[in-house]
Amino acid sequence: MPESPRTDPHPVTGQEFPSPVPPGTGWPGDPADGDTPVARTPAQVARLARTARSVDDLDALVTVCRACPRLVDWRESVATTGRRASFADQPYWGRPAAGFGPAGAPVLVVGLAPAANGANRTGRMFTGDRSGDWIYAALHRAGFATQATSDHAGDGLELRGLRIVSAVRCAPPQNKPTTQEKATCAPWLHRELELAEPTLRSILALGLIGWDATLRTVREMGWTVPRPKPRFGHGAEAELRTPRGRAVRLVGSYHVSQQNTFTGKLTEAMLDEVLASL
Ligand code: SF4
Repeated sequence: MPESPRTDPHPVTGQEFPSPVPPGTGWPGDPADGDTPVARTPAQVARLARTARSVDDLDALVTVCRACPRLVDWRESVATTGRRASFADQPYWGRPAAGFGPAGAPVLVVGLAPAANGANRTGRMFTGDRSGDWIYAALHRAGFATQATSDHAGDGLELRGLRIVSAVRCAPPQNKPTTQEKATCAPWLHRELELAEPTLRSILALGLIGWDATLRTVREMGWTVPRPKPRFGHGAEAELRTPRGRAVRLVGSYHVSQQNTFTGKLTEAMLDEVLASL
């Protein structure tokens, strides 16, 4: 008889899950189910992204994507044999991270990618790691988050008026996706921005990769982008224009990575100032 897969209890609900978590099995906030179509190639990502009629559809499709073989291997190997010792007895999501926050939010935050032991474990953007401690505390101070901490999906946190997505939806080794992986994942961000556009006021790009991915995507969508290309920096701003002539502000912030927050390159005051400007 085949051995049943190892399961571990979810830290909030106590429900047992194998890792990676099968879609539709009860993980808090899992937008997919066993019938959600799976993208296995770049062409399928592009085609399925176009079919998403809503943010809920898009979230479901994203979280079952398997189009980047290296990233699928990495996210699943971290989830099984490569767990951080302090989380060894927890189930790992081991799938791409959906956007987090309400549809129709006037502010969109574009980060780089999930962290291997953060969102790749908890299933929610910036949740369960030091970057998340930073950003959600700041979002709470700015009135965008209902609580200052974000430990795990199912902890009650909600966002108001702001949604967080990333340029690449799977955790990459060394936090470095390849050019090909960024290109393969781009249609998910493209559709995200199309769905967000009617109500969008500002985009906050966390780091250069989020900044460049946003500019590339809105150009593809026919938005007007200033020339020469706006340069990324903390507090940098550019006015983008949608094809309907509506202005959307792009604002840059240093990424909330430990490399920036531990060294003081990014301080709480700097992040608060940027969030207050959105
Ligand atoms: S990085 Fe993006 S395109 Fe690649 S497997 Fe993950 S979700 Fe799919």
